[in-house]
Amino acid sequence: TLPIVAVVGRPNVGKSTLVNRIAGAFHDGSIVENVVGITRDRTYRPGVWNGRNFQVVDTGGLVFDDQSTFMPEIRTQALIAIREAVVVVLCVDGREGVNPLDLELASFLRRETKKSSVFVAVNKCESDAGFSQAAEFWSLGLGEPYPVSAIHGSGTGDLMDMVVEPL
Ligand code: GDP
Ligand code: MG
Repeated sequence: TLPIVAVVGRPNVGKSTLVNRIAGAFHDGSIVENVVGITRDRTYRPGVWNGRNFQVVDTGGLVFDDQSTFMPEIRTQALIAIREAVVVVLCVDGREGVNPLDLELASFLRRETKKSSVFVAVNKCESDAGFSQAAEFWSLGLGEPYPVSAIHGSGTGDLMDMVVEPL
């Protein structure tokens, strides 16, 4: 079985767009496996980068309730995705900047994963300000933030060079 890369993050940061970009070599949209989660499905798609094959998981179920705390069943869903993953990509929104939910999720990831296997993708950084937008996400405590634009494809290659390294 192929190693799993899980893309996590709060809603609307661009997780699904990033997953489509990462799995872009497979335009047939073939889905390896669908697992019915507790709240939503996790979608597994094949990807390849630098000759390394993997499956990328779009964790649609990683959402928060109105009190900005993980609902227990969603925490379980997140844990399943994170525990089975070799690499976790935390996707955040560079145009909005650091959000309290990003901080909560980052501290969750620092507790539940090996820090060395988490990469911060700062999405929506297609403008010239991308690198300065990304810099403030050092505050998540998960190492270097990578500015990307999932829509345009900029920066995603540099991100993927790092992501496939531990696979
Ligand atoms: P998800 O909820 O995290 O899966 O986010 P989606 O992939 O559904 O994207 C949420 C919104 O952000 C959509 O309107 C996307 O078109 C937009 N979006 C995604 N990636 C980018 C990007 O790189 N740049 C910009 N400007 N918008 C993006
Ligand atoms: Mg989505």
